[in-house]
Amino acid sequence: MAALKAWIIGVFCAVLFTDSFTTAIVFPRDDIASVLGPQLSSGAQIVLSSNPDFGNATARWSLFDHPKFTAAVKVRTEEDVAATVRYANQNSIPFLAVVGTHGTIASLGKFNGIEILMHGLNSTVISKDGKTATFGGGKKSFQVIDDLWAAGKQTVSGICECTGYLGPALGGGHGVLQGKYGLIADQFISMRMVTADGVLRDVSASGPNSDLWWGMRGAGHNFGIVTSFTSKIYDVPYGGLWSHETFIFNRSKVEAVFDTINWLSTQQPPGMFNRDLIYRDPTKDPNNPVLEVDILEEGVSAVNSTFTDRFRALGPMSVTSSSGTYKDIPRWAGVGRHTAACKKKDFTKIRFPIGLISYNATALGALFDEFTKVTVPGSPFNRSEIMFEGYSQHGVREIPTDSTAFPDRADNQLVTIGTANSHDPGLDAQALKIGDSLRQILLDGSGSPDMHSYVNYAAGTESLQSMYGFEPWRLKKLKELKAKYDPHERFGYYAPIPV
Ligand SMILES: Cc1cc2nc3c(=O)[nH]c(=O)nc-3n(C[C@H](O)[C@H](O)[C@H](O)COP(=O)(O)OP(=O)(O)OC[C@H]3O[C@@H](n4cnc5c(N)ncnc54)[C@H](O)[C@@H]3O)c2cc1C
Repeated sequence: MAALKAWIIGVFCAVLFTDSFTTAIVFPRDDIASVLGPQLSSGAQIVLSSNPDFGNATARWSLFDHPKFTAAVKVRTEEDVAATVRYANQNSIPFLAVVGTHGTIASLGKFNGIEILMHGLNSTVISKDGKTATFGGGKKSFQVIDDLWAAGKQTVSGICECTGYLGPALGGGHGVLQGKYGLIADQFISMRMVTADGVLRDVSASGPNSDLWWGMRGAGHNFGIVTSFTSKIYDVPYGGLWSHETFIFNRSKVEAVFDTINWLSTQQPPGMFNRDLIYRDPTKDPNNPVLEVDILEEGVSAVNSTFTDRFRALGPMSVTSSSGTYKDIPRWAGVGRHTAACKKKDFTKIRFPIGLISYNATALGALFDEFTKVTVPGSPFNRSEIMFEGYSQHGVREIPTDSTAFPDRADNQLVTIGTANSHDPGLDAQALKIGDSLRQILLDGSGSPDMHSYVNYAAGTESLQSMYGFEPWRLKKLKELKAKYDPHERFGYYAPIPV
């Protein structure tokens, strides 16, 4: 009887499916267990909202405009992913691949459908020549780092240990090693993915879907669910040695510090990362925000004073330093797997990114002052922070700018205003206003009318050009790819490109 019911629903839906993806057809969502369940591999699991594990399976890093889920499918094989996409298509139900849950953008708020939880696709196979590795599409960053480290290898990965590996990579992907090797997406050799029609495809520079290869490296969330990928890997040099030096400054030094960071960015060797923060910490200053400057260098037991002397000379409130290995960097940066950055929480965080060639020190002073006002003690936004990422760019610049969908290879600095407040949707409009106005200070100071917004940090209020590039040919190319591979906009929830 169950089989007959499944067949009837399957046939009925298949007919509707060919007519329209947008027709609102409401089926009892627990049919997913009887219809999709038998098509999945033995290790896969369907978690319905009635299951005690449902909350855990669908928890998010930020509650800002978060996606709503009717069921979660914990896939174990690439065929599970394909079967789930086909089931969702046949029933006109949206689907969304999830790994690290850190994706936070207003367009996700429109999602209401099936979560495809990718963690079961977690294999790592290092090639015999040690130059590439093939990973499952559900890997988190720390899993890629750990698996390679055990073999004396490394590759470019996001700095936060618990984001998915691919979430960052599909939007380009910034990482500490990019100065040496390029962006995370620049490491891809090939990938296997399920496209909107539920078909598994191989995608690479020279394969049958080579046109998609360009789009997957910068706008990849728009075209498919990656089930596995092969990337370049490298021997760990210097025994993995890295050092960092951290300075804390007060308001009086802000302009001078950012002028010095401009100087640093012209000197940075490939194995260096500069990350700075403005935030409140009453143990450092009970009344005002502070500016933290972190300089990390590879292959040395203390950061070379050539790079730090100028910061010391500015008179910081404190200086600390230590050394360790590449694997310590997430912990130093406060985004290790045991830190708050990796906890799913009842918090609303929104990010407002802007890429810059260099800092306008006057604008940075104004930004600090405005941040001070909006985060006064007692404000619901007083746990907000502003992050400044100064990656070395040598490896990124070696890749021709038109060869991938990542648009912003010329920017030296990536600033992200991050508003944070206890979850209260009533505060969202205010948070969006605060973030937009703080970011506008930097745009006004940049001398450029174009807001470059790294797609993986975007709030969702930005224009398509802002996320995908201002050269008209970029959006034209992306829209053509979208029309070919996702004409019904099934991948229409994460920074979507409309057809
Ligand atoms: C604390 C923190 C630190 C961060 N650090 C960095 C960093 O160092 N470098 C950097 O570049 N970015 C960084 N980011 C931004 C990060 O790139 C995005 O937030 C990204 O969306 C996170 O991916 P996820 O898997 O964790 O999130 P998820 O919410 O699980 O996924 C985000 C989106 O990616 C898509 N997706 C996920 N898996 C797949 C797949 N297998 N195939 C196809 N599409 C898929 C889906 O559209 C999904 O909605 C950071 C974000 C946070 C919050």
